[in-house]
Amino acid sequence: MSTASTLPLSVVIPVFNEESNLPLLFKRLYPVLDALGRRYEILFTNDGSADRSRELLAAQHAARPDVTRVIEFNANYGQHMAIMAAFERARGDVVLTLDADLQNPPEEIPKLLAATDAGFDCVGGARQDRQDSAFRRYASKLVNLVRSRTTNIEMSDQGCMLRAYSRDVVAAIVRSGAVNTFIPALAYTLSQNPTEVPVRHEERHAGVSNYSLYKLVRLNFDLITAFTTAPLQLFTMFASVCSALSFVLVLVLAGRRLILGPEEGGTFTLLGIVIFLLSVTMVGVGLIGEYVGRTYQVVRGRARYHVSHVLETRE
Ligand code: UDP
Ligand code: MG
Repeated sequence: MSTASTLPLSVVIPVFNEESNLPLLFKRLYPVLDALGRRYEILFTNDGSADRSRELLAAQHAARPDVTRVIEFNANYGQHMAIMAAFERARGDVVLTLDADLQNPPEEIPKLLAATDAGFDCVGGARQDRQDSAFRRYASKLVNLVRSRTTNIEMSDQGCMLRAYSRDVVAAIVRSGAVNTFIPALAYTLSQNPTEVPVRHEERHAGVSNYSLYKLVRLNFDLITAFTTAPLQLFTMFASVCSALSFVLVLVLAGRRLILGPEEGGTFTLLGIVIFLLSVTMVGVGLIGEYVGRTYQVVRGRARYHVSHVLETRE
């Protein structure tokens, strides 16, 4: 994070194929920020969009070079890495994140700033009346439950990306060098004085979510595995209980055979048990693989993302 000059506020927005949302976002966001009466900058990270987002961002930079900075990735590295790259360059005393699809209304920004002004160093928006599919809402509830049971992160809405952080929290996030992370949870663990404020949530203005089911599953794995190894321990406990029970079963079957002789029709029960134990083993191998894969990525030490160029007007 550059410490050369600071500003009161940086707004960070990851952009991936948002050509149909950017014009309205610009139209709504800039007036809200201009009306705040504090100096600000907006950092857009173009996360390898394949549509016209890049041209639209460049045009916006040309229109408002005083407050607009655009970071271009050479490829798609995901929302959280896009935010990370902007955090590395943000100059604000307060750094606020926001989605580009207008699900987080820019008009709610002053509410978060009121909380940072009051001294909170990590302010999470909690979406009221969330406008997402029922599947997404229920999946979030489930992940929330797992997260609250396996980590000591306490927040009611981890998925809302309308959030504000103090400069210190952002600097700590940057220093952490985290790979495959979930920024709201990481920020929470590094903050001293977190809080939440209720914010409105709108339907995506245009286009569809950039999260396929696959990307969503990966993101939620990141959320859990980046913050706890409890799943590994729970699995070991569960596997231990299974092996103890199957050992008892083997004893019972051997005893029966010795006393009553070979039984008829027990093969399928046995097959069922074997298949069950096999699937338990496969889940375990997969789980270990998740952690090993992530460890490998850190050990390999390859760049988390590559910035191809930055559009900015240095003062
Ligand atoms: N996004 C990104 N890279 C990605 C996926 C999404 O930068 O690989 C951005 C996207 O442009 C938007 C924000 O992250 O600004 C949230 O994405 P989206 O609206 O698709 O997610 P959802 O609201 O469905 O969780
Ligand atoms: Mg969205």
